[in-house]
Amino acid sequence: MSAPDRPAGWAGTPVTGAELTQRYQGAVMNTFGVPARVLARGEGSTVWDVDGNRYLDLLGGIAVNSLGHAHPAIVEAVTTQLQTLGHVSNFFISEPQVQLAEKLLELLGPGGGAGPGAAEGTGGGAGPRAADGRVFFANSGAEANEAAFKASRRTGRTRIVATEGSFHGRTMGALALTSKVQYREPFEPLPGEVTFVPYGDAAALEAAVDDTVAAFVVEPIQGEAGVIDAPEGYLAAAREITSRHGALLWVDEVQTGVGRTGDWFAHTESGVVPDLVTLAKGLGGGIPIGAMIALGDAATLLGPGNHGTTFGGNPVATAAALAVIHTIESEGLLAHATARGDQLAAGLERHPRVTAVTGRGLLRGVVLTEPRAVDVQTAAYDAGLIVNAPTPDRLRLAPPLVLTEDEAAQAIATISALLDEVLA
Ligand code: PLP
Repeated sequence: MSAPDRPAGWAGTPVTGAELTQRYQGAVMNTFGVPARVLARGEGSTVWDVDGNRYLDLLGGIAVNSLGHAHPAIVEAVTTQLQTLGHVSNFFISEPQVQLAEKLLELLGPGGGAGPGAAEGTGGGAGPRAADGRVFFANSGAEANEAAFKASRRTGRTRIVATEGSFHGRTMGALALTSKVQYREPFEPLPGEVTFVPYGDAAALEAAVDDTVAAFVVEPIQGEAGVIDAPEGYLAAAREITSRHGALLWVDEVQTGVGRTGDWFAHTESGVVPDLVTLAKGLGGGIPIGAMIALGDAATLLGPGNHGTTFGGNPVATAAALAVIHTIESEGLLAHATARGDQLAAGLERHPRVTAVTGRGLLRGVVLTEPRAVDVQTAAYDAGLIVNAPTPDRLRLAPPLVLTEDEAAQAIATISALLDEVLA
């Protein structure tokens, strides 16, 4: 355990971690097991627990705290918006909602955020245009995917193709698209006619998609599966196959989107223009918000009365998301995420207990020689570092995009020492 390190101005707290953990168990539903620490405050990429221990946060609330903790831009945007207009319902328009929808479409760019191939309408880039796009605001990743699921039903088709290893959320619809048997089985029957194909296998996709398929849903990098990269050309093949069969290409960017991989969207570098893009996590930087963006013909699949949610497009949440996007732009955080991610990968790849570092930018999987990632995660907490073990042999790193060069160096040193110790 690192020595208690109380930040300046720390007033102390009357409760201890042990006491709050006990009260948690008596009052909070046991859907997550018992969390290992009780956190009290954060600043940048650092958090402190209620007992005063300090941690370098390499998980960022699972790819959520894109600007780190307590970033002044989010604090200011949320505070000002709340003082001005906190909530209006969808009977009314508010300016931040419109601005955010416009901004997301702008970020998807002419042709949907795609590269030159898209602009020329060639190869994988051929597809809908962002200029025709529309955004539906939700409150989480699962809800963004529910909206996309419902949009796909409006094509008149019901079959969906998803990938093995996928994670799309825990609501009944999103769960139907999620492959993990342990998550699904207790809740079956789930909606939909969903076929799972091996991730990254274009031939399997070709075999599964025909003219009865409404959509193919895919993560550009599988996050919960342990940060699995799609092979080069996979998204372009998916675009070609779905277009040929009149099916929607639905890219789930809930974990990968909004700068996490060093691009606004992880699919950007493929040059592919999807029909549906879902976002959440990093979009609000910690304020709950999700978005389903539909491009081209898909933009009109959902009409009045087809879908809704009370909080969707809430002025405070959309103001927070605008602050996140503006700060990523003004502080050059796309390039920064790429640089810090490359630094982490280069530093960790050298360790003899690491077989590979996957992912891009600041979404990274560290593949270990032994299935002891949970032991490393536990030891990391004691060493003042927050990482996570999504699979037995992989650590996941998804730190704030503001992680500094020194913090990345510290992360490499601490993880390397932990691997020496735990996997000795
Ligand atoms: N889609 C992806 C790719 C995710 O990684 C997640 C969450 O981890 C979700 C959807 C679900 O998002 P939420 O937990 O906000 O419902």
